Amino acid sequence: MKRKTVLITGASRGIGRAAATAFAKEGYDLVLNCIRSTNELSRLADRLKESFSIRTLCCCGDIADYSFVCRMFEEIRAFSGGLDILINNAGISYIGLLSDMSYPDWEALLHTNLTSVFSCCKCAIPYMVSQKSGKIINISSDWGICGASCEVAYSAAKGGVNAFTKALAKELAPSNVQVNAVAFGVIDTDMNACFDSGERAQLKEEIPAGYFAKPCEAAAFLCQLAHAPSYLTGQIISFDGGWI
Ligand code: NAD
Repeated sequence: MKRKTVLITGASRGIGRAAATAFAKEGYDLVLNCIRSTNELSRLADRLKESFSIRTLCCCGDIADYSFVCRMFEEIRAFSGGLDILINNAGISYIGLLSDMSYPDWEALLHTNLTSVFSCCKCAIPYMVSQKSGKIINISSDWGICGASCEVAYSAAKGGVNAFTKALAKELAPSNVQVNAVAFGVIDTDMNACFDSGERAQLKEEIPAGYFAKPCEAAAFLCQLAHAPSYLTGQIISFDGGWI
């Protein structure tokens, strides 16, 4: 039987890296992307290829750049002929008052966190629709649901991802392609390295579960979602220890 292929953007570290490991364990062929950690990504791909006897393809480049995404999908077509699962995970954050944010920073955040989701979906949809199956999982945040002070652009981008998810799910349900988003709370990755120990303790106090989830817990949930029945679509599922 032909093995299934998953594309994970932003896979060099954090949630994306843990997701790559989790899907490799399940025998998926992997297409992995990140912006510039070329060596780290190929070391990860080589390790997973060897450990789980899967095929891997690394595509380093800026997911915010539509022409790069188109070139990446040409490589995917040559590698596997299509795609079964797309995980739009790559993202950046910006912490600071909106009035201090420059226009280039706004533009970079929106293109990385939201336009990339458009670009990858646009390129993946023809394959999924023609095979009448596919799963798109967009990585979002609680902030896209309730908004965060000093993270206005990030909240707006993730809110956009949530609305995009709901709308695209309606468009693709007749073709048996499911589109869902996972709104994470706090996952213990480098994205949160900016918080000092006092801020981390304060954050933990706000989370009913009392801790930051590990990237492998987040990844395990993404695998479960990839196996969910096809009737589950158009949902924004919070994975946040009961935070919001
Ligand atoms: P991270 O900073 O540890 O890793 C981000 C990954 O994205 C890296 O592999 C990086 O290379 C890649 N990336 C960044 N910009 C890119 C670009 N322009 N092109 C290609 N790749 C790019 O982040 P993380 O914590 O693992 O977050 C992953 C996703 O989860 C993001 O979308 C983030 O917004 C979301 N999220 C994270 C948390 C959290 O607490 N960590 C909470 C909610 C949502």
